[in-house]
Amino acid sequence: MYDLVVTGGLAVTPAGPQPLDIAVRGEQIVALGMHGAFPEAARTIDATGAVVIPGGVDPHVHYSVSFAGADSETQDHSYAAAAGGTTTIVDFVFHEMQAVPYLTPGEAIQRKKDESAGRMAVDYGLHLVLTQNPSFEAIEEIGDVIRGGIPTIKTMMTYGWISDDGHILGVMEEVARHGGLSVAHAEDDAIANWLTAKYLREGKTHGGYIAETRPALVEEAAIRRLMLLCEHTGSSLYVLHMAAASGVRALAEGRAKGLKLFGETLTPYLSFTSDALFDDANRGLLWNNYPTIKSQSDQDELWRALADGRLETVGSDHLGFTAEQRYGTMGTTVDELQAGQAGVELRLPVLYSMGVTGGRLSLERFVEVVSTNPAKIMGLWPRKGQLAVGADADIVLIDPERRWTVRNEDLHMLPDYSCWEGWEMTGKVTTTILRGDVLYEDGTYVGSRTGGRFLERTLLPAYASGGAPVAEAVPS
Ligand SMILES: [Zn+2]
Repeated sequence: MYDLVVTGGLAVTPAGPQPLDIAVRGEQIVALGMHGAFPEAARTIDATGAVVIPGGVDPHVHYSVSFAGADSETQDHSYAAAAGGTTTIVDFVFHEMQAVPYLTPGEAIQRKKDESAGRMAVDYGLHLVLTQNPSFEAIEEIGDVIRGGIPTIKTMMTYGWISDDGHILGVMEEVARHGGLSVAHAEDDAIANWLTAKYLREGKTHGGYIAETRPALVEEAAIRRLMLLCEHTGSSLYVLHMAAASGVRALAEGRAKGLKLFGETLTPYLSFTSDALFDDANRGLLWNNYPTIKSQSDQDELWRALADGRLETVGSDHLGFTAEQRYGTMGTTVDELQAGQAGVELRLPVLYSMGVTGGRLSLERFVEVVSTNPAKIMGLWPRKGQLAVGADADIVLIDPERRWTVRNEDLHMLPDYSCWEGWEMTGKVTTTILRGDVLYEDGTYVGSRTGGRFLERTLLPAYASGGAPVAEAVPS
């Protein structure tokens, strides 16, 4: 007798898509078998005609962030993730050297854990962001942080959270020493500042110029600096939100030299191009993100890189602000423009519709980039990211034929607009199960909004920093 059986669907397992039933006992998958193999179940979900995949893992989500005078959507809306087929997210803890009162990294992590506890609908992990120029004491805590289940340590190369290359070197050395994975926001601050000043001097202040003041060069330059630091520290590196084709090429060169590099792109970069920014009638600046969205040729290359393995994952960079917060509270000029797109609920649907239905990704590759790879790279494997015996029963059903139109009023995220409003989609998430609990069913959220658990993450050796620094290991 099983607690739950999902029967009749096309299950995408590590061995590929197969007609299999999935049997669940408690919170785990305990058996996979031919259709009809498990007739004895307390509850049976008919998945006939559906594609059945492991729950989505979004490696890049922000809840409860405050900046530029505005507070973003909170953890209380995390049930939107489940409504979009995502059962695990990784959020960020910001450690700020200049915060008053000052919190150590450990204290900042505890505060974020307290803030999230009892308010998350899906399971979650945390990245630590060491912002500004962290002190020796803050850097020396990295080992404890990694051992405490937060093995991904992020630095920022621009904005008010910028760390200079010396401090990034210090952070990456410590990450490498403790077998962690460095994570970075790669944009070259100096080049962006120079171009911004130049545009302001020329009177080009419209926020739409942001794609020109922060062009592909800004991304590529930062990625190349990070790769040099990887070479000298032996740290592995996950580059967040890659938007530029030249950045993808740089990463591939680094890999060819033996560096452990992993690349993430975002749903918005796969969906939009920078032309949207000048569309004032439709509040085009809402489409902005950092790094900036790029050209059509960049977007085409991102899709190719995702399909052929040069990029590993797709995140949402979910950050929910209202249109009024974006256009009113924050600035709209090229030097004050802010970003933030609510997208955790649409990551899987957009990737399915544009990717699988659109013929850009195989079904297997789709599952890899939205679930399996993020789970593996972020240290959540084998519990998350696969339909296999022993894994958590995080199961998502997609109706591959269902056509629907994105309407923000039908979504579960807080913001009053969606960048995907009016998009015609083919393929819809119909059911989401988290550890055996049905959270979303036939288009209705039916489950707990507070059952998500904090996950301590442990990196697989393939993704952790390890061994001698490559620069020394390779004979010259
Ligand atoms: Zn982000």
